[in-house]
Amino acid sequence: MFTCRNQSCGAQWDQSDVVIKNEGQGLLFRCPMCGARNYVERFEGDDGSVLYEQMEGRPFPGPVAE
Ligand SMILES: [Zn+2]
Repeated sequence: MFTCRNQSCGAQWDQSDVVIKNEGQGLLFRCPMCGARNYVERFEGDDGSVLYEQMEGRPFPGPVAE
């Protein structure tokens, strides 16, 4: 389950509700409701299944300070 990072939206989505793609700054999906960018990280399970997890600490696009 993902939660839109746009605080005035806050909609929740299943992975099947959104389109995850790379727009050049990492994987993200755009909220179907408000269009906000929500960054995700890709993980692969032991059985080869692909999972995505939302990156809470990356609220804005662009270089990360770390
Ligand atoms: Zn939203």
